[in-house]
Amino acid sequence: MEPLKHKFEADQVERLEDLARHSMQALELCASLGDFQSAVTKFKNRKDIFERAVQGLRQALPVSMYAFYSVDGVDFDIDPEHADPPENWRYIRQTVDDLIEKGLVALAFREKQTLADRTRDGRYSLLIHALATTSQTYGIFFGFLEKGKFEASIAEKITSIIIKLTCYALENFELYQLVQQKNETLVEKNLQLSRSEILYRNTFENTGNATIVVDAQGTVIYANTQFSEFSGFEKEVLSDSKKISDFIAKNSGGRVSFSGLPTAAEDGEQAPAEYVFENRSGGKKTVFLKISPLGLDERYIISFTDVTPIKEAEKQLEFQAFHDPLTGLPNRVLFQDRLKQAVKKKNRYPAYNYGLMFIDLDRFKAVNDTLGHHVGDQLLIEVGARIAACVREVDTVARFGGDEFMVLLENVHDKNCCDVVSQRILEKFQEPIYMAADHEIIMTLSMGVLVSTEEIAGDADVIRLADMSMYEAKKQGRNQVVYSHKISNKEIEEKLYLENHLQRAIKNEEFFVQYQPLMDLDRNELYGLETLVRWNHPELGIVPPNRFIPIAEETGFIIPLGRKIVELAFRDFAAWRKQYAAANDLYLSVNVSVKQMLQSDLAEDLTSMAEAFGVPLDYINLEITESIFIDDMDRAVKTIAGLKDLGVSISIDDFGTGYSSIKYLNQFSIDLVKIDKVLIENITGSPTNLSIVASMLDLCQRLNLKAMAEGIEDLKQLEKLKTMDCKFGQGFYFAPPQDKSVVEQHIRRKIG
Ligand code: C2E
Ligand code: CA
Ligand code: CA
Repeated sequence: MEPLKHKFEADQVERLEDLARHSMQALELCASLGDFQSAVTKFKNRKDIFERAVQGLRQALPVSMYAFYSVDGVDFDIDPEHADPPENWRYIRQTVDDLIEKGLVALAFREKQTLADRTRDGRYSLLIHALATTSQTYGIFFGFLEKGKFEASIAEKITSIIIKLTCYALENFELYQLVQQKNETLVEKNLQLSRSEILYRNTFENTGNATIVVDAQGTVIYANTQFSEFSGFEKEVLSDSKKISDFIAKNSGGRVSFSGLPTAAEDGEQAPAEYVFENRSGGKKTVFLKISPLGLDERYIISFTDVTPIKEAEKQLEFQAFHDPLTGLPNRVLFQDRLKQAVKKKNRYPAYNYGLMFIDLDRFKAVNDTLGHHVGDQLLIEVGARIAACVREVDTVARFGGDEFMVLLENVHDKNCCDVVSQRILEKFQEPIYMAADHEIIMTLSMGVLVSTEEIAGDADVIRLADMSMYEAKKQGRNQVVYSHKISNKEIEEKLYLENHLQRAIKNEEFFVQYQPLMDLDRNELYGLETLVRWNHPELGIVPPNRFIPIAEETGFIIPLGRKIVELAFRDFAAWRKQYAAANDLYLSVNVSVKQMLQSDLAEDLTSMAEAFGVPLDYINLEITESIFIDDMDRAVKTIAGLKDLGVSISIDDFGTGYSSIKYLNQFSIDLVKIDKVLIENITGSPTNLSIVASMLDLCQRLNLKAMAEGIEDLKQLEKLKTMDCKFGQGFYFAPPQDKSVVEQHIRRKIG
C-alpha cells in the first residue's frame, strides 16, 4: 500500500505542483495584464489588442495558432479579422467552418464562456470564446493549442479572463476612439474658431485706421493698436472705461450722439462725419468718423481717419488763393472781399466808418531794374512788414501787385485816425532800408486815402477813388498823402463827362495828332517822329491824352480810337515821304496801348492801312509799355513776333516804371528802349538817378538795344547823357509835340 500510497501522493503532489505552477502562471498573467486595460490608449487598432491578448495567453498556454473573427451585430455572421500564422488561414477557416456547422460558435455567443473542442484531424485542442460583454459583442476567439500540454479547466479559466479583459480593452478602445473623434472635431472647430478670430483681429488691427468697437452707450469694448497710439491710452485702459465722446473735442461743432446711430436692422453705415479728435495730452486732430453697426449685440465699429494733413493742405491752398506769395500779405481778392464787407457795414450802420489807403512806392521800378529782382523782392517784403507794423491787428494790409499796397482801416472815428496812420507810415519810411550787399535804400511812397466819413456815392468804386488820389499824390511831387474827397468829385464828374463824349468825338473828328521829334544824338539830326494824340473838345478845349486814354482803355474805346490815330499818322507820313526826300529814312512812331495790341487785329489794320496810304512798314515803330508782359506772356510774345514779321520795329515806352526786367527785352526782339522821363528829370541833381540811368544804358548796349532818353529839357541833361553814350533822345529841349505844319519845318531841314 505504501508504494501505492506513495505513488498516489507523488501523483497528487505532481498535480498539486502543476496546479500551483499554473496558478502562478495565471497570477503572473493577471499581473502582466494589469495595465492591459489602462494601455488601451496606446493601442492603435484592434489587431494590437488581439496580439497583446494572445501574448498574455501564451504565457500560460501553448497557443500554436489563433483567430479572431468579427461579428455582424444584426445576424451574427462572423468574418475573419485577424489570425496567426497567416499561412494557416485556410486550415483555420476550415476549422471555424466546422465549428459553425457544429453549432459551437452560436453556443459560444450564447454562453459567453470558454468552450473546448478539437480540430477535425485531432491535431489541436480548441478553445472558443466569444468577445462579448453584457452590452456589446465584438467578435469571437479561436485558440489552437498543442494537445495535452495544458490543464483544460485552467486553460478555460485563463482564456475566459483574458478574453474578458480583451473585451474591456475593445470597449475602451472604441470609447477612446469615439472620444478621440469627438475631440478631433472639437479641436478642428476650435481651430476654425480661432482662425476666424485671428482673421477678425487682424482685420481689426490692420484696418489702416484707428478703430474701436463700442456698445450702445458708446463705451469702448475693443480698441486696436492704432487707436491706442492715436489716443495715447493703453488698450487695457480704454476697454470698458472710455467712451467715444471722451475723444471728441467739445468745440468741434458737435458730439457723437449714439441715440441717433443706425441699428443693424437699419440701413447700415453712416456717412463719415468730420470731428475734432482730442487725444490724452489734449492734442487735436481733424478726423473723419465712420460708424457702422456690427450687427451683433448693439455694437458699433467706429473708425477714425486722420484727415489733418488733408485739412492742412486745404488751408494751404486757401491761403495761397488769398495771399500774396512774396510777402504773405492778403492779396487783391481777399482785400476786395474785406472791403466789400466794410462798405456793406457802412451802408447798414452809418455810424461805422472805415479808411482806405492806396500806397505806391516811388521809383520802385528803377530800383528793381537796376539792383535786380532779388533785391526788389526783399524790398517789397520789408515794405509790407513796415506798413503792417503801423496798423492795428484788425486792419488789413494787402499787396495789390507790383509795388502797390492797400490798407483797410476798420472802425475809424474820423479822418484824424487816417492822418495818424498815414503819417506813421511816411515817418517809418524815413529810416533807410538795409538790404544785403550793403545796399541802403530810402524808399518814399505816395498815398491816396479815402475816408468813409466823407460823402461817397453808395455805388462808388472806392478803390479807384483811392487810386486816383494816389496818382494825384505822385503828380504833386510824391512822398505824400492825398485825400480822395479833395479830388474825387471833380475827377469822377470829369471821367463820366469824358466817357459820354468819347463816342461822339470820333464821329465829329475831334481827335487830331501832333508829332514830336526823336533825335539821333550823335549826329544831332532828326531820327523820327512820335505821334501823340489830342482831343479838341468843343467845350473843354484841348484835352491831353493822359486824361482820356485811360478812360478809352477802360471802355474799350481805345480800339477805334487807335485805328483813327494810325490812319491820321499814316496819311501825314505818306504825304511827307512824297514831298520831302529827307523824310525817306525817318521813322514814324505810334503809341499803342496794351488792350489795342492784344484785342484788335493790329497787324491786319496796319497792313491794310499801309497799303491804302503807301507807307513802308519798315519805317513804322510801335511804342508799347512793359505792362504788355504782365498778363499773358505767351500771347505778348506771339503778337510781337507777328508784328515784327510785318517789318515794323518795337520800342518799349516809359522804361523804368513798368514791371518787367530789362532781361526780357532781348528775349522779345525789342529794337529800342525809351528811358522814362521821370528818370531823366533828375540825372544832373541826383546821383542815384544818374547811376540808375547809367546802368540802364550800359545794359542796353550789352544787349544790343538802342536806347532813347525821354524828356530831355536842357543842355546839361543832354550833355550828361552824351557822356554816358546815350544815342537817342527826345524832349522839350529839341522840340515839344507840334502840329504837322510846324513839324514839316524840322523834316525839311532834318533837325530837331
Ligand atoms: P509818352 O508816350 O511817354 O509820350 C511822351 C510824353 O512826354 C508826351 O506827353 C510829351 O508831351 C511828353 N514830353 C515830351 N518831351 C518832354 C519833356 O522834355 N519834358 C516833359 N515833362 N514831358 C515831355 P503827352 O503828349 O501828354 O502824352 C502823354 C502820354 O499819353 C504818352 O506818353 C502816351 O503814353 C499817351 N499817348 C499819347 N498819344 C497816344 C496815342 O496816340 N496812343 C496811345 N495809346 N497813347 C498815347
Ligand atoms: Ca511814347
Ligand atoms: Ca514815354
